[in-house]
Amino acid sequence: MNKPTLDHIGIAVKSLDAAKIYEALGLSVNHIETVATQGVRTAFLSAGDADIELLEPSGPESTVAKFIEKRGEGIHHICFRVDDIEAHLGKLKAQGYRLINEAPVPGAHGCRVAFLHPAAGNGVLIELSEKQ
Ligand code: ZN
Repeated sequence: MNKPTLDHIGIAVKSLDAAKIYEALGLSVNHIETVATQGVRTAFLSAGDADIELLEPSGPESTVAKFIEKRGEGIHHICFRVDDIEAHLGKLKAQGYRLINEAPVPGAHGCRVAFLHPAAGNGVLIELSEKQ
């Protein structure tokens, strides 16, 4: 297993128009994708080695819609790129960390992703992502 690297920071927004502030900073949206399994429309803005991922709920049942309802817009998760997602999940589970996804699910960019429970990350929702 290689060391994980920061892949992106996910920000829950009511609308992808939120990209404006990052565009004003000089970043640009380079990818927009609906991820049906996560109930979101995403926009990625490249910021050096890591991206900003804006997450717009695709409907009221989306977990991101519920997140915004409860906590308002803001940082939703951080994502680490890993090279062997199953090995990482197995290792974390063996150490007693709570996982939301015990097995990878399809994410944006065709990646395989899995979320750890926020209780495992001191209130921070951590995503692991393996590029195909
Ligand atoms: Zn993400």
